[in-house]
Amino acid sequence: MEKKNVWETYDAGQLAQLEDFTKEYMQFLDEGKTERECIDTIVNRITQKGYRDLSLLRREKKKLQAGDKVYTVCMNKSIVMFHIGSRSLEEGMNILGAHVDSPRLDVKQDPLYEDGGFAYLDTHYYGGVKKYQWVTIPLALHGVVVKKDGTTIEIKIGEDDDDPVFFISDLLIHLAAEQMEKKAGKVIEGEALDIIVGNRPLKVEGAVDGKEKRDAGKETDPVKEGILKRLKEEYDMEEEDFLSAELEVVPAGRAREAGFDRSMILAYGQDDRVCAFASLQAMLELDRPERTACCILVDKEEIGSVGATGMRSQFFENSVAELTALCGGYSDLALRRCLAASTMLSSDVSSAFDPSYASSFDKKNVAYLGNGMVFNKFTGSRGKSGSNDANAEYLAYIRNIFEKEKVRFQTAELGKVDLGGGGTIAYILALYGMQVIDSGVAVLNMHAPWEATSKADVYETMRGYAAFLRYNGME
Ligand code: MN
Ligand code: MN
Repeated sequence: MEKKNVWETYDAGQLAQLEDFTKEYMQFLDEGKTERECIDTIVNRITQKGYRDLSLLRREKKKLQAGDKVYTVCMNKSIVMFHIGSRSLEEGMNILGAHVDSPRLDVKQDPLYEDGGFAYLDTHYYGGVKKYQWVTIPLALHGVVVKKDGTTIEIKIGEDDDDPVFFISDLLIHLAAEQMEKKAGKVIEGEALDIIVGNRPLKVEGAVDGKEKRDAGKETDPVKEGILKRLKEEYDMEEEDFLSAELEVVPAGRAREAGFDRSMILAYGQDDRVCAFASLQAMLELDRPERTACCILVDKEEIGSVGATGMRSQFFENSVAELTALCGGYSDLALRRCLAASTMLSSDVSSAFDPSYASSFDKKNVAYLGNGMVFNKFTGSRGKSGSNDANAEYLAYIRNIFEKEKVRFQTAELGKVDLGGGGTIAYILALYGMQVIDSGVAVLNMHAPWEATSKADVYETMRGYAAFLRYNGME
């Protein structure tokens, strides 16, 4: 089948819109480099556009009606938004879903130690990473430290121009003969992904070169002590406070335009914040829908959608139940009818064809950067295992919408059949008996510290979501 690049299809007006839209997308990426930061910036954006907190409305016993826009957040890490339509909820909703967590290195609970004159923070990586990609690049530290009294200290170090950054060392090439013989999975081991956070010993008052105190056996880690002193001064933080902290190590730096032609975006965490942002913008653009629109942006997809803030938790279902109650029509049956009659675009990134690794892809059934929004009828691995396999009827419904609305799309699989694969949140929503299909944006070097997308794909995907929200399901 014919493959077509979408850049050629835009007129000057659309190209200007595309540039504005992707500029805002890059800002969104810079504001949200952790799931918490993403939810914060999303709440900021939607409350300015009239969205109200569902849990507050519930306490005030407010009734909701068509046109109302509400949201609810779970533990600062996932969010559900609704824009209530004029039709009954029992007729189902149009749902957009994506995830806001990304692969990274998490700081352990007892992380700080000193070795060879360096202070380190010990980490445990989160999600699927090629560990060797994380050494010798500037790293930033984002997250929260929650003190025993409940106060939260927000941490974000390494993003401002005058901030320090952190890094993981690698063996110099001159001595790496043995290391270079190792398989890529073993070159850098998980336990070796500890970040260097200091190299300057604490000078003890009244001691000569700090010796007096240390010789008395009280201090054996002067560099570590120096770091602890700074943490106390700058963040009012004790070593024990690491116990109740969530600190994430991410690549330092902003999202950037890529290429002489500025056609691409190179940034951390585009899996899956690119779909999250496009979904969010499609929700904000929506005007007086007939069918209720819903957008769910969740955490923990990269580690199996587990936990209270992952897609497999009851959070989404509970939120829909609360919504039906506030709309005045809750019953167990009404809730089930609503969910079963819903249609969903479960959005996640898809692998883009990479000419340097052409043999890993089926050229006919892979996404190309710049060819528009991607649909994966199925995902999974080795015989579609673990996949939601969308129905042909639903694909036909989507094709029809996209043709009418002139949205350019491509269909794809991740890669060659026997090479591996991946999962998304699609199969979890499909458990309600609703129509679900995997869709999203193609990404080059997915899960690397810096991932690449096409500006045109990001824009076209937002147009696709917006079109999907305007239709009324497969009646
Ligand atoms: Mn993903
Ligand atoms: Mn992923």
